[in-house]
Amino acid sequence: MRSYVSKVATTIELPSRDTRKAALDDAGYNVFNLDAADVFVDLLTDSGTGTMSDAQWGAMFEGDEAYAGSESFARFQTAVSEVMGFEKVVPVHQGRGAENVLYGALVEEGDHVINNTHFDTTRAHVANAGGVAVDCPVPEARDLDSDAPFKGNFDLGAARSHVDEVGAENVPVVVLTITNNSAAGQPVSIENTRAVAAFAEEIDATFVVDACRFAENAYFVRERESEFADWSVADIAREQLRYADAIVMSGKKDALTNIGGFVGVRDQDLFEVAKQRAILYEGFPTYGGLAGRDLDAMAVGLREAVEYDYLDHRIGQVRELATKLSEAGLPVFEPVGGHAVYVDAGELLPQIPDAEFPGQALVCELYREGGVRAVELGSFAFHGTDRPEFVRMAVPRRTYHREHFDHVAETAAAVADRREELRGYEIVGEPAMPELRHFSAALRPVE
Ligand SMILES: *Cc1c(COP(=O)(O)O)cnc(C)c1O
Repeated sequence: MRSYVSKVATTIELPSRDTRKAALDDAGYNVFNLDAADVFVDLLTDSGTGTMSDAQWGAMFEGDEAYAGSESFARFQTAVSEVMGFEKVVPVHQGRGAENVLYGALVEEGDHVINNTHFDTTRAHVANAGGVAVDCPVPEARDLDSDAPFKGNFDLGAARSHVDEVGAENVPVVVLTITNNSAAGQPVSIENTRAVAAFAEEIDATFVVDACRFAENAYFVRERESEFADWSVADIAREQLRYADAIVMSGKKDALTNIGGFVGVRDQDLFEVAKQRAILYEGFPTYGGLAGRDLDAMAVGLREAVEYDYLDHRIGQVRELATKLSEAGLPVFEPVGGHAVYVDAGELLPQIPDAEFPGQALVCELYREGGVRAVELGSFAFHGTDRPEFVRMAVPRRTYHREHFDHVAETAAAVADRREELRGYEIVGEPAMPELRHFSAALRPVE
């Protein structure tokens, strides 16, 4: 069993109920507009919000800040090669920078890109390159009652039908996102990975793995795919990535850093194009918009991320929160994924129609009740799709302890107790791009 102790203490405080009410009102009932100082337990995202280890902080002191060819880059490259099996690597400032570098090189106007499910920034970068983003998740991904082990898998039948429709020559890229972030962080099996790789080869497409959460995925494979029960998670991770022609990575996820990312490729020509695009958008290809010390932090973080005991603690924390929320009376999406607990606010608050955002009502009430920040991923965030009315509580890595989860559960229980009193919200101001409205729209309670 592994645990973590604090070496640097950060004070957090629960503001008074009056302060919370006023802060929520000032924020236009949108928790993205809250000051973090007004939040007690912050479960908005697990992206870049985790705690680095003493080994990572120590490595940062050795950062080599040479513009080109730094020792930090060499250590980083060795770590990516040993942990993920890619020798040709281009660092970037974060995951979406990797998407810009790679998809800008591979996707042309009118091309179709097929993914198990596009993460929101991936979809935006495919669109930005002139492409059409097509999702092919397996049907059980949407089934709240299914306890299938790999609900993140890619639906090959659906992908084949799509290729038959648009022609293989118009599908230059096939992507597999592990874990499937937009499908509640559900894992993807290696059996599915092999099949998708074969499919991509068959249609002569580049097979990209979005590897942001590759280590969490490997943990689930070890648990659920019998072929790998005796493997180390590090070996499983390498095995799964072995089939990819390229990877995109956000260091803010499974490299356990607060910033950073990279692209890994196998093809020399693609490597040259990726480096040119990195110079244009990120920085010279041995630093990619990062300080040398950031590369060192990623190098150490990548190795830590594939340690079994780290993952067991991390995924254990997510499961612990899920159990507590379920006991508190919230309907929790099962099986629980790798990084967050998803709650079905539509089921909890049947009196609020989808058009009045039951998820947002729950998010606002969790903040007002206990200073807990979660995020809506239902009708408010994904306008015009028929997703469940999800609220996500993401768990930052190695950051919170049992007492914090107890506080979240007590808050949730208090909200669940008076669920009938909760009312919906309406939008009073929103930005021009509807895809981005949940980040900045203002709301008010429905009268
Ligand atoms: C976070 C994430 C990205 C984008 O990474 P950023 O570092 O936030 O830019 C892309 N794909 C997936 C699956 C992610 O989880």
